[in-house]
Amino acid sequence: MNQATLQQSGKGYNVATVGNLSTFEGKAFLKEVIGTTGMEVSFGSLAPGQAVPFFHHHKLNEELYIVLSGEGIFTLDGNEVPVQSGSVVRIAPAVSRCTKCTGEAPLIYLCIQAQEGSLQQYTMTDGVIEQ
Ligand code: ZN
Repeated sequence: MNQATLQQSGKGYNVATVGNLSTFEGKAFLKEVIGTTGMEVSFGSLAPGQAVPFFHHHKLNEELYIVLSGEGIFTLDGNEVPVQSGSVVRIAPAVSRCTKCTGEAPLIYLCIQAQEGSLQQYTMTDGVIEQ
């Protein structure tokens, strides 16, 4: 089991680590460690054949799963969707979901939660190029 560890803080920023992702195991939530205010972020890992032991949905938050390595299946409202390294899965709050590792290596993923419909500006409308 890996834990997120705060490494450095400055005015307006925090730096944390969950360690080497190639050996990451378990689940690590970052919000409390890194101080995000508009999203929850977590790393997750499932061993070969392992599934998240429950289905769940959310009240307000959409989720974005980014598969970092391995292969698996997302079950989304009963539909089985194969994923692999590089897959990006956006899930609306009400969709029932579960994840299973189907490959011979661990399925390692990043999950970002944010309130559905809350994004007001992004990329060129929010970023300010300084030089
Ligand atoms: Zn969730």
